[in-house]
Amino acid sequence: MDYVGHVIRPPSEAYSMIIQVTVGCSHNQCTFCGTYKGESFRLKDMATIKRDIDEASSYDYPFTKAFLADGDVLILPQETLLEIIGYIRKKNRRIERIGVYGNTKAILKKTPAELAELKGAGLGIVYQGIESGNREVLRRIHKGAFPHRMLEAAEKVMGAGILLSQTVLLGIGGTEMSEAHATDTGSLLGKMSPDYASALTVMLLPNTPLYRDHRSGVFKLPDKFGLLSELRTILRNMDVYRRCFFTSNHASNYLPIRATLPQEKKLVLEMLDHIIESGDERILKPEYMRAL
Ligand code: SF4
Repeated sequence: MDYVGHVIRPPSEAYSMIIQVTVGCSHNQCTFCGTYKGESFRLKDMATIKRDIDEASSYDYPFTKAFLADGDVLILPQETLLEIIGYIRKKNRRIERIGVYGNTKAILKKTPAELAELKGAGLGIVYQGIESGNREVLRRIHKGAFPHRMLEAAEKVMGAGILLSQTVLLGIGGTEMSEAHATDTGSLLGKMSPDYASALTVMLLPNTPLYRDHRSGVFKLPDKFGLLSELRTILRNMDVYRRCFFTSNHASNYLPIRATLPQEKKLVLEMLDHIIESGDERILKPEYMRAL
């Protein structure tokens, strides 16, 4: 496979056919993200993409899902996406769902008709990645979008019948914005009510502006129980109007949670109250086991 640089995918795509169709991320400005620093965003040539699809299709493995990497594939022109998705499905009759990362700008650039067309072709899930629901935090981290536009984008994806998966980042507001970040993030997730929502925890990567702010003392990360308090506040404020599967089982987190909301919200909040009150670090994942 012609994999260039860091090829990342959501945890839920671990068993998917991973086809790298772009290198890097069209935005590449988030202060915490070191994945594509120094990499210019570009579309790989179609012949290489198709060669990879041919190779992956020849594996003796019954793929039912495919994921198109890298960071923001939904930004690609409609015809390009349709050609790639069409080729994957032509070569793999068993593929039921194709997924991509799509940032808010990329989603909003698509018309409802284009999203519906992609859904019809086989695009089954978009991973949006809002990080926070707080406007000031989003400004500070250079996310490139604000809550009202994120909500608009989320509604557009779900309106096209495409599954929506959101990720938010514990700790991204620092100690200063911790409470506001968690409250507004929970509230925005509730308004969106995505099919899936995951909380990850900030990891300070040496090649990022956030790391430098941390070193200089401008940015202070909440401690482990501060991060768990954020998780609790997010869930408390997350009043979903439809079923949402919430997880915090990413490798970066101190406490893995899997819950169906709204049904299991009360139970999870009680568990978090108990763990936070106990202050017992032995319940949490040890530092050396955390990763991105
Ligand atoms: S949009 Fe995603 S991949 Fe791109 S810089 Fe931000 S976090 Fe990284």
